[in-house]
This record gives sequence, C-alpha cells and structure tokens, in this order.
Amino acid sequence: MNDQSRMNKKRRMILGGMAALAGVPLLNTIFSAQALAAGLPHLKDNDPTAKALHYHHDATKAPRADKPNMPAKDQFCHNCMFVKSDTGTWRPCQLFPGKDVNANGWCASWTHKAG
Ligand code: SF4
Repeated sequence: MNDQSRMNKKRRMILGGMAALAGVPLLNTIFSAQALAAGLPHLKDNDPTAKALHYHHDATKAPRADKPNMPAKDQFCHNCMFVKSDTGTWRPCQLFPGKDVNANGWCASWTHKAG
C-alpha cells in the first residue's frame, strides 16, 4: 500500500466517522419522537406525590370542590393549566414529570386552563 492509498483509506475512515456522528442527533430525535408517541408511564394512584395531591384517574372519584371559576363536576386534567397536551387519553403534566395523567383525572392542584 503506497502513501496515496493510505491517505485515501484514512480520509474514508474519517468521513465515515463524521457521517456516523452526524446521524446521532437524528437518531435521538427519531427515538424521542417515538417515545412521546408511545406515551410516558401512567401516573399511579399510589405514587407519593399523587397521594399527597389526592390524584385519581377518574375525577368523579376524587375529592373535588367547587372553585369560583368552575364547579367541581367540571374539573378534569384535560382542562387544567398544568396539562401539557390537548389530545390523548393520557397526557403529560407539569406537576408529574416523566409520567402521563389521565385526561379525565384530577388532583388538588387543579387550576382552570385559560382560553
Ligand atoms: S395538576 Fe392538573 S393536569 Fe396535573 S394531575 Fe393535577 S389536575 Fe391533572
């Protein structure tokens, strides 16, 4: 193998490595999007924070109370300002990072979403 061949082989190896590295962010984006589409683990009723906030997947079984801007019967995770999505039965909530809450659930931090 002459010097020119060795240089070409090195160039190909370097370019191949750069191409592989350039693909890493793209793969991360694809896997993150798949993870979001698949959803986060569901918040468990027995999670310590969920228990402290009286969270329940079924709001009708939670200790809701009337608030000035919303009667108890109309309070759900889907109309709470802390829910981070407008679609799906299970949605991320700012108060429970890494978990999805039920759109028809409720917890004591419920606050009416504006708009
Ligand atoms: S903060 Fe809002 S969205 Fe999150 S669990 Fe409580 S009621 Fe549901």
